Amino acid sequence: MPFSQRIRGASFREEYDETFFLQNAEVVEDLSSATNRSTSSSSFLNRNTHIIPPKAKHLKHKLTVVLDLDETIVYARDGPLYVRPHIDELFRFLAAHCETIVWTSSIRRYADAVVSQVDKFAAVKHIVYRHPSWCGNQVKDLKLLGRDLESTLIIENTPDCMRGYEANGLLVEDYTGGELEDRTLLSLLNLLQDLVRCRDVEHLSVPEYLRRTRLAPLCRVVTDKGNYMECHCINSELEDTRTYFAEVPASSLLQSDFTNAIVC
Ligand SMILES: [Mg+2]
Repeated sequence: MPFSQRIRGASFREEYDETFFLQNAEVVEDLSSATNRSTSSSSFLNRNTHIIPPKAKHLKHKLTVVLDLDETIVYARDGPLYVRPHIDELFRFLAAHCETIVWTSSIRRYADAVVSQVDKFAAVKHIVYRHPSWCGNQVKDLKLLGRDLESTLIIENTPDCMRGYEANGLLVEDYTGGELEDRTLLSLLNLLQDLVRCRDVEHLSVPEYLRRTRLAPLCRVVTDKGNYMECHCINSELEDTRTYFAEVPASSLLQSDFTNAIVC
C-alpha cells in the first residue's frame, strides 16, 4: 500500500461542518479564496432543464462517468477521511479518457472538501450536490445531466440510486474505511479500460457493453426498500485485473476546475 487509506484525521470535518464554519467566518473566507473554483450555476437549474452545463467540446466523444462519493470511493462518516485503495490509478485514467461527474447526496461543502483531497489529476468536471430537485426519492435521474445515455455510465454502491438506469449502472460493494486491501477500484479500472476500447473499436454503447461483458455480471440485489433489483455488479474476484500505467501530462496535474452544479 503506497500510503495510508486514512488520508485526513478528525480535523477533516472542520472543512465542511456548517457549525464550525459559522463560528469561524475568517476560515470560510480563507478557504473559498484558496479553492479558486468556478461556482457558476447556483441558478443554473432555474434557467435550464439540465442541472449541469453541456458537455465541453473537447470531451464530446468521451465516455461520461457519473461517480458516487460515499461508500463508493471514500468513507468519512465517522470524521476522518478514508479513500478506497487504488483511487489514484482510477482518477488518472478518468482524467485522460472520460468526462467525470461526481454526483452525491451529501452537501456541497463536504463534497468540495472530499474531491479537493482525492482528485489529484483534475478528473472531476462537475459535482452535483444534495438538492430538492432530485434528492426526494433518492434516484439519480441521469436525464437531468443532459448527456447521451449511450455514452453514460453511473457507478454506485446503492442500487436504489440508479433505479430505472440499471442498463447504464455498475454496482460496487460498500467501502467502509479501514486499512484493508480492496481491489474494487482496480476491477473498475479494468472494466473502464475495456469499455473505452470497445467504444472506440466496436462502437458499442454503454448498455450494449454491459450486457456482454463478463467483468460485470447481472446480479439480483436487495434494495433499501427491501425488494430486488437486477444490477451489473463489479466482479473483483477476477484475477486478470490490470493496472493502468499510462503517463499523464504534467499539465493535467493541476487543481480541479470542476463546476458546482447545485448549491444546497
Ligand atoms: Mg454511496
